[in-house]
Amino acid sequence: MIDLHAHSSASDGTQSPAQVVASASAAGIDVVALTDHDTTSGWDEAVAAATSTGTALVRGTEISCHAGGASVHLLSYLHDPASPALRAELDRSRGSRLRRARLMVDRIGADHPLTWDDVLEQVDGEATVGRPHLADALVAKGLARDRGHAFATILSTRSPYFVGHAAPDAVDAVRLVRAAGGVPVFAHPRAVLRGRVVPDAVVEEMAAAGLAGLEVHHRDHDATAVRELADLAASLGLLVTGSSDYHGAGKENRLGEFTTGADALEVIESEGALEVVRP
Ligand code: AMP
Ligand code: ZN
Ligand code: FE
Ligand code: FE
Repeated sequence: MIDLHAHSSASDGTQSPAQVVASASAAGIDVVALTDHDTTSGWDEAVAAATSTGTALVRGTEISCHAGGASVHLLSYLHDPASPALRAELDRSRGSRLRRARLMVDRIGADHPLTWDDVLEQVDGEATVGRPHLADALVAKGLARDRGHAFATILSTRSPYFVGHAAPDAVDAVRLVRAAGGVPVFAHPRAVLRGRVVPDAVVEEMAAAGLAGLEVHHRDHDATAVRELADLAASLGLLVTGSSDYHGAGKENRLGEFTTGADALEVIESEGALEVVRP
């Protein structure tokens, strides 16, 4: 079982990187990828955990991007974390995310008893800050039932409290990932419940820039989306992946609920700058 999309407390997952690897091992996963939002800060801990459990580790990052007015998530696998151009872009996104979170708390705080300190209590060290941390703070203050409820109300993109954040253009990000020796895969390209999705023309542009694959199999895709994405991947010569997008207790997604074929992983590893860490 190969699951190439999971989050830890280095971003908005609820388990530490070592716990994510341990959970993957307990779930019978052979290969798991740690793909925290806009960071590689969980990698070292996950590497140490992978060498002491039965589960192999793919080091990755889920990069926040924009394309037109749509938000795009780009998975990068096995890139050099020291690559200056990619690092600079991720640093910029994390900085913008922090300012945006503070701005949202200012707006929410005008109507509800929520402070920045409440949010900081939910953030693990240098983790990439996102709306899930605001959700956890709202839950802790009794202002929402759970993350899902918070996202459906106060944190919704349609809420007056919502603020966006800066992120690179998706086609530029594909080039940055390749320049860093990474293998770029478009995460949940048809997750319509999250907001606008990009037209096929954007995927074609990303493919021309070096995109390696599409995350076709994902909880946020219905049968039509899966069929259309599989066709698109075939017509553009892209890999097909499937993964859970695990966030620990932060989402219902369970490790291994969607998986990737060994042949796709073989291509990813052959194109990536880093090796898969095997126990
Ligand atoms: P942000 O990138 O800060 O705008 O927050 C988006 C993140 O929140 C994504 O990584 C999602 O995994 C997570 N998210 C989105 N909707 C929900 C939800 N309904 N429940 C829990 N987490 C969510
Ligand atoms: Zn997330
Ligand atoms: Fe995502
Ligand atoms: Fe994700």
